[in-house]
Amino acid sequence: MHFQRENLLLLFGITFLILALGLNSGCKGKEEQEEVEMAPLEKAPNIHERLAKLAPTEIIYDESLLNEEQKQVIEKFVLAAKQMDKIFWKQASHVGLAIKDKLEQSEDPADKEYFRYLKINFGPFDRLNENKPFIGTSPKPLGAGFYPADLTKEEFQAYINEHPEVKEQFEHLYTVIKRKNGELVSVPYNEEYREDLEAAAVYLKEAADITTNPSLKNYLLLRADGLLRNDYYESDVAWIDLKDNLVEIVIGPFEVYEDELMGLKAAHTGFVYINDLEEMEKIKGYLNFLDEMQKNLPVEQKYKDQEVGGLESPLNVVIEVFTAGETKAGIQTSAFVLPNDERVRAEKGTKKVFLKNMMEAKFNKSLIPISKRMLSEEDAEYVTFFGYFSEVILHEIAHALGINYVTLPDGTKTTLNVALKEHNSPLEESKATVASIYNVPLLVEKGWIPAEKEREIYTAYLAGMFRAMRFGVRSAHGLATLMEFNFMKEKGAFLYDEETEKYSLDMSKIKGAIEELTRTLLVIQGDGDYEKAAEFIARYGQMDELTKTALSKLGDIPVDIEPVFPY
Ligand code: ZN
Repeated sequence: MHFQRENLLLLFGITFLILALGLNSGCKGKEEQEEVEMAPLEKAPNIHERLAKLAPTEIIYDESLLNEEQKQVIEKFVLAAKQMDKIFWKQASHVGLAIKDKLEQSEDPADKEYFRYLKINFGPFDRLNENKPFIGTSPKPLGAGFYPADLTKEEFQAYINEHPEVKEQFEHLYTVIKRKNGELVSVPYNEEYREDLEAAAVYLKEAADITTNPSLKNYLLLRADGLLRNDYYESDVAWIDLKDNLVEIVIGPFEVYEDELMGLKAAHTGFVYINDLEEMEKIKGYLNFLDEMQKNLPVEQKYKDQEVGGLESPLNVVIEVFTAGETKAGIQTSAFVLPNDERVRAEKGTKKVFLKNMMEAKFNKSLIPISKRMLSEEDAEYVTFFGYFSEVILHEIAHALGINYVTLPDGTKTTLNVALKEHNSPLEESKATVASIYNVPLLVEKGWIPAEKEREIYTAYLAGMFRAMRFGVRSAHGLATLMEFNFMKEKGAFLYDEETEKYSLDMSKIKGAIEELTRTLLVIQGDGDYEKAAEFIARYGQMDELTKTALSKLGDIPVDIEPVFPY
């Protein structure tokens, strides 16, 4: 087979070793392999463009933060996490590993780029382009590697209806579905991925041997056991109970996004990180002012709870050292909330973890170039990571502000979610942003934000809007951003210069506009007024042509980073 680089599609022919999933005999873990001659696979031509969407960025941390013991523990964590990579390759698709082997052996230099993009995506399906294949032409099965590639939702459901005794295992978070002798069967993760999980468990136990922190030791031993037993309840509890540990690992199957067939199967992921004690102190400081921030809000008392509830989950800021598996595929995670187990959530709550250096990497590679393109020269100077990070953290804190329950005209008491239905999420996202920014002058007055940095927060707010709107306005956060952007423009707080085609901030108007929007949103929420919410969204949730054109000029700026780890 020859290569035709000039053509639209490059061809390469390979003989594929397809894992004959579901045809395997009784011997566990070892699958029969069937050699299948496949039609030549096509490679999409624009691999450079695809790679350019992600800026390679080295993820590093200050090693002086750790002592010898912690360094040794981190090494073990990385080795354990790497097993999650191995598992996720199998979960993401049935063909990814075979293509990876082939490309790895290829001597054609052009294949190096396909190999890199394959690794970014954990398979031949482009996560930044609706999972369309960039190698080969077969579409990605909705059930990724968790189900037989040809299985439909209807067949899966019909099988469960006919065999109710399998329902629990078939719908289990931690099983894969296969075909065996013409029947569907479920295989638990601890059987399907036994080798990889055993290796991960060994590294976790070795780390447990090294650490002198009792809560970490306890968590690691329970997690190792959980991986082998396919049950994470105890170790989830132990994770919430971690105390005074600097180094940490989150490892196991978590989110179900990869399973687009049924949304049932959790994909394996690993996060290795160092707790950022300095940042966490700062957050504690903000939280000390929560009551004052509530009192400060520009509405009558009836629109704000007498006592501010605590945060839904404590905020943790960490320095990412290594990631693996699902979280590393495509767009990188900058924050997560775990655990997902409802029992643990009810008993112990959750933790929200911000990966600060990952956020900083995204900021540098994406938000800075966006700012230079979209903002006036003067404003772009004020776009700093301090401003951006502070705004993100304050937004999270401000979700606690305002009102939690509303009394409807008929006297019934209900939650905002019930009262405002589908409109609640975008309004709540906007409220969190503007109510937090509204309180910035208060935090400056209290000495918690340096006065000379105040403008950086407003400017980060404007710059960050272009990034959020670029990701689309279908999400609650995207829609919220668009509404705020339109509101701020209407009030003259954001100005557009037709000559330079750039936006700028009017510092004399921004505070007033933020105050007005904060009041508007708190009143809609406090009244539980569904009609007003709908009106507000209809009025401010539309993107005008000018903004569309402006956003279209960002096409060549990376949408995210490609993490490069020194391991
Ligand atoms: Zn939010």
